[in-house]
Amino acid sequence: MKIVSDKNVKLDPKLAQKIAELSGENVFLCYQCKKCASGCPAREFMDGNPTELMRQIQLGMIDEVTKGNTVWYCVSCQTCSARCPQDIDIAHVADAIKIIVQQEKIKADTKNARLFNWLWMTILRYMGRIYEVGLTGVLNVFTGHPFKDMALGMEMIKKGKLKLLPSFKRPFMMMRMFSRARKLKK
Ligand code: SF4
Ligand code: SF4
Repeated sequence: MKIVSDKNVKLDPKLAQKIAELSGENVFLCYQCKKCASGCPAREFMDGNPTELMRQIQLGMIDEVTKGNTVWYCVSCQTCSARCPQDIDIAHVADAIKIIVQQEKIKADTKNARLFNWLWMTILRYMGRIYEVGLTGVLNVFTGHPFKDMALGMEMIKKGKLKLLPSFKRPFMMMRMFSRARKLKK
């Protein structure tokens, strides 16, 4: 976690309480085991990660929690919530923060988050799983930094941590799920 000079940190002692009222989740149960952050598929795009977010809420660091992009890159996959040994629904906590940002008209860093969410869902819908190389590449091209992660990506491909070519996992089933969800929404 980034250490900030204490004089510059704005603290809101009621932040955890507000989030508890909106989400029903008690962030003070978190003991920073990092299981949520290690499983989060969107963490590389976030300013922080779910574990840091929980600590910032406990401390009442209102600006870091509400102005950063972490919650806006959350795709509500629930991986963190499923992995948490304390049964905290972290995805629900992220939703509560989005509500606070909107209710209090806070200027949050949502830049590129909409594009990221759209790309994520489109890849998932047609491929049945996330294709990290494609997602990062397209996002970097659209945001004007086409070579941003190229060196790191090549290194990861060499070490077998990333797959260069996409793979598909039951895409037709996923497409059916998406169209069913769309019908339910109507
Ligand atoms: S729900 Fe959000 S924060 Fe949790 S693992 Fe998924 S993307 Fe990450
Ligand atoms: S998995 Fe749960 S207990 Fe562990 S760091 Fe995340 S929120 Fe905290």
